[in-house]
Amino acid sequence: MTENRPAKPQTGRHNLDPHLERYAARTAGMTASEIRALFAVASRPEVVSLAGGMPNLAALPLDTLSAQVGEIIAEEGLVALQYGSAHGVPALRDQICEIMALEGVKAHPDDVVVTVGSQMGLDMVTRLFCDPGDVVIAEGPSYVGALGSFAAYQANVVHVAMDDDGLVPEGLREALRQAEKAGQRVKFLYTIPNFHNPAGVTLAVERRAEIVEICREHGVLIVEDNPYGLLGFDGQTYPALRSLDPDNVVYLGSFSKTFASGLRVGWVLAPHAVREKLVLAAESATLCPPTFNQMIVSRYLATHDWKGQIKKFRENYRERRDAMLSALRQYLPPGCSWTHPDGGFYVWVTVPEGVDTKAMLPRAVTARVAYASGTGFYADGLGSRQMRLSYCYPTPERIREGVRRLAAVLESEMDL
Ligand code: PMP
Repeated sequence: MTENRPAKPQTGRHNLDPHLERYAARTAGMTASEIRALFAVASRPEVVSLAGGMPNLAALPLDTLSAQVGEIIAEEGLVALQYGSAHGVPALRDQICEIMALEGVKAHPDDVVVTVGSQMGLDMVTRLFCDPGDVVIAEGPSYVGALGSFAAYQANVVHVAMDDDGLVPEGLREALRQAEKAGQRVKFLYTIPNFHNPAGVTLAVERRAEIVEICREHGVLIVEDNPYGLLGFDGQTYPALRSLDPDNVVYLGSFSKTFASGLRVGWVLAPHAVREKLVLAAESATLCPPTFNQMIVSRYLATHDWKGQIKKFRENYRERRDAMLSALRQYLPPGCSWTHPDGGFYVWVTVPEGVDTKAMLPRAVTARVAYASGTGFYADGLGSRQMRLSYCYPTPERIREGVRRLAAVLESEMDL
């Protein structure tokens, strides 16, 4: 049965691990993401980090929140500090249905399962559907945390290309045809339709029905991951795929980008039958999502102008996006190209042939700027000519300075 053992690690450091022979086979796919490895250096104050995707929380009304947290303890402390249902706090599930209506989704609170961030939703959905060797189709590039979950359950990722209008339907058809020809089991399409992480593009409205239709035809479920949907810079929203085919779409939502990422509250809206299994999976993972945090979110939604707050976040991110795009135009050398996000946190940059963004990263950090190299966003090693730049967190001045430093590194790399 040696073929089921995790691959023998290559480095001397891991060879010292006395537990090596004990790990489950699935741990072979568990590697630290390139982004995590970068975190320590990139967070030094002299480095302008365009690498991480941390939401900028400065606009949150901390005094109000502090008072509300106290009120929850005073008025409902014995409930807030107690276990709850794996399904989530009922009042919050009602409120989530109101939020979903903003993107055209008719949801029933019974079909909402509250999770510990949408990352837990991703993990549970993969756990429910993927056996080792099953295929997940995902955009190329795709969200690094999702790729981590797919790897942890030993699913194989097939990437489908995007253009400025998001996932290309013909590419999806072709990938499904190829997988069927090869006798592979495709379990779901994982897609981030709005303000993509890391690509910064949005799926065109006219493509949405087509994507839904293709998946129906091929009997493939859709997992729609939409943490940025309410962060369109002009306040624009798009119809969720879930609104087009409720029975075939599992929707992942989150309060991380629209309220507070540290509370770790997200949700899954699933077809009725899937929801039953999700609750069981959630029970075995965490017993229940944190009651206190759910009540903080619920009270905030009930008493605060949360839509006004999201507008503030959007304005803040738009100013930073503008600073990023104008700095890219001003400083980046010829031969570079990039996407133009209408919302969300990220720009995806392609550099000239001959430049390898992963190899260049240590030199960029020495020049006091960090980014996320493109290879981390592919399961198959592509992305060496790409990088993700995040504009969500630094000030506009720091963004401009970061891009100026990056451009200098790129120029010297191109001279080599
Ligand atoms: N999906 C996408 C596309 C993301 O960008 C993120 C966070 N960066 C997540 C899911 C996870 O978000 P959370 O667990 O904080 O809800």
